[in-house]
Amino acid sequence: MNADRMMAYLKAKGLSYLLPALSGNGHMFETVIDKLKEGASAKALENVKSQDPEKRQKVADSMGMFFEMVKRNLPRLSTNTQRKLAFNMFFNHLTLGQEARDRYRGKYGEPPPFLLVISPSMRCNLNCFGCYAWEYNKSKELTREEVSEVIRQAKEELGIYFITISGGEPTIWPHLFEILEEHNDVFFQIYTHGMMIDDVMAKKMGELGNVHPAISIEGGPKETNERRGEQAYDKILASMDRLNREGVLFGFSVTHTRKNHHAVTSDEFIEEMLKHGPSFGWFFQYVPTGKKPDPSLVPTPAQRLERYAAVERFRRTKPILVYDFWNDGEATEGCLAWGRKYLHVTASGMVEPCVFIHMALDSIREKSLVEILNSPCFKEARSMQPFNEDHRRPCCIIDNCDVLPYLCRKYTLVPTHDGAERIVTDLHEALARNAEAYRQELERQDAGASVHPAG
Ligand code: SF4
Ligand code: SF4
Repeated sequence: MNADRMMAYLKAKGLSYLLPALSGNGHMFETVIDKLKEGASAKALENVKSQDPEKRQKVADSMGMFFEMVKRNLPRLSTNTQRKLAFNMFFNHLTLGQEARDRYRGKYGEPPPFLLVISPSMRCNLNCFGCYAWEYNKSKELTREEVSEVIRQAKEELGIYFITISGGEPTIWPHLFEILEEHNDVFFQIYTHGMMIDDVMAKKMGELGNVHPAISIEGGPKETNERRGEQAYDKILASMDRLNREGVLFGFSVTHTRKNHHAVTSDEFIEEMLKHGPSFGWFFQYVPTGKKPDPSLVPTPAQRLERYAAVERFRRTKPILVYDFWNDGEATEGCLAWGRKYLHVTASGMVEPCVFIHMALDSIREKSLVEILNSPCFKEARSMQPFNEDHRRPCCIIDNCDVLPYLCRKYTLVPTHDGAERIVTDLHEALARNAEAYRQELERQDAGASVHPAG
């Protein structure tokens, strides 16, 4: 270990013991977190291309919000969660990860992604309408060894210490906890319906400290039970209460549709969530892919704008960190896909550019992650980013609808399940119409016109 790395190790190790010890000491604890926030924000800004002060401020704010979340929640987290957060973030991500990222950048001339999503299995015991993962072949699964190897590559070759496990329902995949334990140097987020999280599983998560579930919910009991089945809402809240008791850092995940618009953008929804302990929340919007794609479920342009305003309001007024996978394009300088910031390994080993683009060319069973990232298709897609200069419309599926058909055609990307190509064939026209309507809605808003009520 060289001297710099040794110093960073000792600092992170010290921090991982200091933070739990300071959690009860308001002033000193806050000072330490504020110092960490300053350092991390400065580091994040080094990678921002734009010199526009407003855009740079968005990135700094986004980092600041993360540390405010840590400050708010650390005292209630299990000791192991506190230690893992500190050590995985400040040594593994910022030191070991940075060394690997610098090596990669030196060799390939651009930074590697910072996040990897792996869906080891597409099996699920629910049957939600609009499930984006439903059509994948459920008999195909990654082995424990394959997942472990891909995580090794992510860490050592790309410097990735943030890994999301999705699916399907990840808690059904039999090797989940073995992997979480084996790679305890990684910050794992898992997208789950939450209903398998019993007392034993919640306790195990609190003990491991490096696993952060994001539990799917659709708004209140009516919307949630309608999509996820009878009693789903109560079961989800009970799981949240268990995670809260065990000091697990966890969040919620919402899919915004035309139907649940009011339920998920209301203050009441967030206030109800806060009673059950999530520290963060993700807003996704329905994309017509997967099970019986239904363009009429896509939020209207006005609803998408109202979600944007709601998320901003929650951030200002509620003690919870909320992110929007599309509307936060300003904080990420555009789309994250095609390995610019992340990529998705499916249960069959195929590597998709984004969890919502079910088209691919390469498999981890034949190529390394580095080779796939540097394939002509992924490289050209990244060279086209941002797909436009207005980062409120970052997406190559729902905002910049010419991009995906062009790349699919040019590189003959293959659908990763039956019917996935519909996103660039018969569903394309509806998506393009909606994209244009959203562009016009933004234009009207920018011109100071009033936003139409949601329809
Ligand atoms: S939406 Fe999620 S919980 Fe529902 S069926 Fe699909 S994978 Fe399962
Ligand atoms: S393709 Fe769309 S959904 Fe996927 S990362 Fe880019 S903006 Fe997000």
